[in-house]
Amino acid sequence: MRTVVTKFGGTSMADADKFRQVAHIIREDPDRRYVVVSAPGKRFKGDFKITDMFYLCYEKAEAGENIDVLFDEISGRYNAIIDELGLNISLDREFQRIRNGMYNMTGRDYAASRGEYLNAKILAAYLHYDFIDAREVIFFNNDGTFNAEYTNDVLSARLKRHERAVFPGFYGAMPNGTIKTFSRGGSDITGSIVARAAGAELYENWTDVSGFLMADPRIVDDPKIIKTITYRELRELSYMGATVLHEDAIFPVQIAGIPINIKNTDRPQDRGTMIVADTPEYDTKNVITGIAGRKGFTAINISKDLMNVEVGFGRRVLGILEKKKISFEHLPSGIDTMSVIVKNSELSGKLDYVLNGIQQEACPDSVSVEDGIALIAVVGRAMVKSKGTAAKVFKAIAEADVNVKMIDQGSDELNIIIGIDEEDFEKTIRAIYAEFIRG
Ligand code: ASP
Repeated sequence: MRTVVTKFGGTSMADADKFRQVAHIIREDPDRRYVVVSAPGKRFKGDFKITDMFYLCYEKAEAGENIDVLFDEISGRYNAIIDELGLNISLDREFQRIRNGMYNMTGRDYAASRGEYLNAKILAAYLHYDFIDAREVIFFNNDGTFNAEYTNDVLSARLKRHERAVFPGFYGAMPNGTIKTFSRGGSDITGSIVARAAGAELYENWTDVSGFLMADPRIVDDPKIIKTITYRELRELSYMGATVLHEDAIFPVQIAGIPINIKNTDRPQDRGTMIVADTPEYDTKNVITGIAGRKGFTAINISKDLMNVEVGFGRRVLGILEKKKISFEHLPSGIDTMSVIVKNSELSGKLDYVLNGIQQEACPDSVSVEDGIALIAVVGRAMVKSKGTAAKVFKAIAEADVNVKMIDQGSDELNIIIGIDEEDFEKTIRAIYAEFIRG
């Protein structure tokens, strides 16, 4: 028997109708043996995600406020799902335990994780699958990092005892047994971890869109869906702001070479996006796979005559950043100039220290700071095989009358990164997209 791991996101699990649709999808293919779920998401515009309600509940309890109304709303949503599905189970004892947990300060992560925990219990009962609590099989180290190998050992041994199971996503256990969550959207990571441990043939990630889009639909009208993308391309796009899949979800399946298929719960007939280790397939006409970007960067521009022959100059500059634990994004340089591009959030409250440090340790001729920078990544595995991609990118930018502040191309020729003014961000993305896709 093949093994397919499926993960359903919050919007796919928001109410009883969605549960029915999810169960229908799972039953359609007997290979869909392990299922990972998020907490119920928004049912309509303006609705609240259960995870956010749990966070709020915890904050209220921490502030000594009464949480009864809010908690009843949460339990009401689960009970509505149970009733509408006609299930013969009660989660009342669980609700009681969790409500007490809020007051006993069992932790913010514990509170948030209950959204997934309760949802997985209901789906397991509905499907007649086993329920496996993530706290028994997913582990973190004391420093809060994910303990990948130990988890993989324990989880793969455990899976041998369960032919079919439902897991709550998003959380695991610290060495002392307390609950810890991944960052928001972390159920995607759980799905990937289960796929690796199960040695799955495929990891299906079911969501509310029919795959990864070539550009942000809030910026570009009706962007095309990416049919196939490699893990590395996806990592570039996710890092630069493309959402849909949590950026850390790639690593566990990448180790095992398991493809991910992004699928739409409301349109299961759509092919979705396949994320694979490598593929010879690419669009010869369009060359690029996707465009993504982020605002909120600062450039520290440093110049010094004869910088090119001064051994250790770069190390001295970067040493200052290291001392303050600041990570940098890019390091474009000229003969006598060097710029360090850093996220604003990394620099906040540390800029004076950095500038003084650079003055003292590197003795430059000048240092200037430019904020309000946006970075755009044009990503495509086919770039390495084709000529003229950069020319097309910069032609589009020039025609849009945008001034380029920085250019960087990774050594693997997988992407071209462009730094521009934040105010030109949307227009630049639209211009590049139009040049490749509609040009
Ligand atoms: N429920 C969590 C969140 O809202 C995790 C997830 O959905 O993946 O972030």
